[in-house]
Amino acid sequence: YVPDAPLDGHATVDLPAAQSHYLRSVMRRGPGNAVVVFNGRDGEWRATVERLAKAGGRLLCRDRLRPQAAEAGPWLLFAPLKRGPVDLVAEKATELGVARLEPVLTRFTASTRVNTDRLRALAVEAAEQCRRLTVPEVAAPVALARIAETWPAERRLLVLAEHGDATPAARAFAEAAGAPAALLVGPEGGLADSELDALRQLDFVTMVRLGPRILRAETAAIAGLSLWQTLSGD
Ligand code: SAM
Repeated sequence: YVPDAPLDGHATVDLPAAQSHYLRSVMRRGPGNAVVVFNGRDGEWRATVERLAKAGGRLLCRDRLRPQAAEAGPWLLFAPLKRGPVDLVAEKATELGVARLEPVLTRFTASTRVNTDRLRALAVEAAEQCRRLTVPEVAAPVALARIAETWPAERRLLVLAEHGDATPAARAFAEAAGAPAALLVGPEGGLADSELDALRQLDFVTMVRLGPRILRAETAAIAGLSLWQTLSGD
């Protein structure tokens, strides 16, 4: 992923040291080898390695493999979890086509500090690994109580809640499929009753249940996004 690279025609793409190192030392590529490059705007291009050195490298674009795809994936709003689970969520959500990762601070959120730079780096790595043409946006953390203030009218918010009154997921996702949507998953300690009551009042919210058991937050996020991807024919 080279975000600011020009990829038209036989453009040359300068690689920063880290990516040059990755191609050279991890992927064992060298001059003349073919690689794939994308910038998140112009699609995916086949390129040939001109040089890979410690200080950086250079690729020569050859032909376009795939045009840029519009980013139609869901958003994922998630309460920052401990480091391991939150990294897992960022990586798996990227693989499952999320367009935007938005940390939300809730009453029982374990850690209010969110390292968005680390999440962004994980999202880039996952996007390269799964050959997406875009990298999800990683938003700054927002207080759950504030999301209604700026919520886009056309986007449905599916709140993952383990409570019996929530709509079974298959129905809720089928009803929301095809339109812009977002999933919200709570922290390890769950969403507070007052937060759930406030969310239920919002007309853009559907409470969604993923079966009868209490899942870890990261499990719920991955299960919800997988179901979304399946039902929306992604
Ligand atoms: N309230 C739970 C408890 O009493 O143990 C703790 C919350 S659970 C570990 C973390 C989050 O995962 C929840 O806030 C919810 O968003 C999601 N979740 C867990 N189980 C779920 C289920 N069966 N259906 C939908 N969401 C679920």
